[in-house]
Amino acid sequence: MTASAENLPIKFPTLPLIDQGLLDRAWVEAARQGAEYESGEREALLARIKRLLQEQDAVLVAHYYTSDDLQQLAEETGGYVADSLEMARFGNEHPASTLIVAGVRFMGETAKILNPEKRVLMPDIEATCSLDLECPVDLFTDFCDAHPDYTSVVYANTSAAVKARADWVVTSGIALPIIKYLAGRNEKVLWAPDRHLGSYVQRESRVEMLIWPGSCVVHEQFKAEGIRTLKKKYPNAQILVHPESPEEVVALADVVGSTTGLIKATLNPEVQEFIVATEPGIFYKMRQASPSKTFLEAPTGGLGGSCQSCLRCPWMAMNGLRNLAQVLVSGANEITIDEDIRQKSLIPIQRMMDFARKQQIALKDRGNA
Ligand code: SF4
Repeated sequence: MTASAENLPIKFPTLPLIDQGLLDRAWVEAARQGAEYESGEREALLARIKRLLQEQDAVLVAHYYTSDDLQQLAEETGGYVADSLEMARFGNEHPASTLIVAGVRFMGETAKILNPEKRVLMPDIEATCSLDLECPVDLFTDFCDAHPDYTSVVYANTSAAVKARADWVVTSGIALPIIKYLAGRNEKVLWAPDRHLGSYVQRESRVEMLIWPGSCVVHEQFKAEGIRTLKKKYPNAQILVHPESPEEVVALADVVGSTTGLIKATLNPEVQEFIVATEPGIFYKMRQASPSKTFLEAPTGGLGGSCQSCLRCPWMAMNGLRNLAQVLVSGANEITIDEDIRQKSLIPIQRMMDFARKQQIALKDRGNA
């Protein structure tokens, strides 16, 4: 049996509403970072950042959902563009003493969990994630305590404190193999926080799961009807969908996959056009790998995609060249984690990495949000 927020008798906690003020602040900062550059400003910023990275013994690791400028800069300066776990793993292997994490807060925390001896800075430490916000540690702990016979599995998009309370941490790419492994051990799963990814994994595995009702503000917006309409216009296009999207959108997909999995899918030489249902920052890597192919944003907000602005993650868009330069000068926005929490949160992350190694699953080919 599957239980969900709508399917009693399991009583799920009432999740905190995403504060509109928080979203508004994110969009204001995103607009500041994305504002048009004055003549020569961009070039001056890039030169300054490159010099500061060297002076500070720092390396830039950027998520796939950040701006083209940041992804390009990371690549040009010996840094890395990846999903959150790969960002942290790259930071672990790189000799730099400072990691600059362009992404959202849980990514900075994951980098710090795996690299405690390094300084981890973020262009904006207020950059967060709706999944993280909708899974506060007190509610999560109470829910786990109320269901002690369930194995708790959390998505990487959670705080260090939530990870510290979990039995397993998973990325979207490795979630299904781990859930199937737990099913083989007759374990029941308490899944948090993304309900769409949880439902997808449950449908594919048929495992008994309690699914936390959180969601991603970006992927939640994709609408099946708009995608069907776009597909009529581009009948040869493959539909690529991240599993944080609603079930009816996942049902339309030719490929369901993590960020890294979707980028890989675009390398298929047989296909020239793609309708992509995930944050459009990912187009940088897709176009880089296949410059002659066509990439279309999956519509949001119903027919015709009337709400295109919803596609960007407001918190990812808070990262920019301007605040990156500032943080390299000031050393502000450093990620710190209580050592007890860090050590506890490392256990379920390590469990996932050990599982991947044993199963010979290359995490770098799978990845998360
Ligand atoms: S795109 Fe969604 S899952 Fe990713 S950081 Fe933004 S809110 Fe979180």
